[in-house]
Amino acid sequence: MDFRILDASAFYAGVPFRSSSDCYTTSQVYDEIKHIKKNQDALGTLLETNRLKIREPDENSTKAAISAAKDTGDYPQLSKQDLSIIALCIELEGEIISDDFAISNVAKNLGLKISPIMTQGIRDVGRWVHYCPGCKTDHKTGKECPMCATPLKRKLLKE
Ligand SMILES: [Zn+2]
Repeated sequence: MDFRILDASAFYAGVPFRSSSDCYTTSQVYDEIKHIKKNQDALGTLLETNRLKIREPDENSTKAAISAAKDTGDYPQLSKQDLSIIALCIELEGEIISDDFAISNVAKNLGLKISPIMTQGIRDVGRWVHYCPGCKTDHKTGKECPMCATPLKRKLLKE
């Protein structure tokens, strides 16, 4: 089983775009993150290639997530989106990728697998390249494009 369940913070951090695993999320989270303009093409590609799957947790898992959140006292801190991610993890017996403290706390209390976003960058080793958004050329280093002087951006290429 090679998949991960992503909450909104994982999308904001770009985890699905540099991951080789299949990703699951819920429609509540997808609705929250789909407006991120710079990621729209990448999100479309992930959906088309079925590497990102949107799925609703079932009712029992949702009830279990809410009850666990009330047990740990994290319930007031959790949004509907957060709870849907915990519920999906219960249902799929998967692993959540999140930096959210309340999500992590509830997940750990339920015995679910949870990993912080930071380790994702370490597990998915790659090579940083500097690329020019202006003329679409790659450069080893530098702040400005030597061809057109546009400020360079950085992206991680998977090895
Ligand atoms: Zn350039």
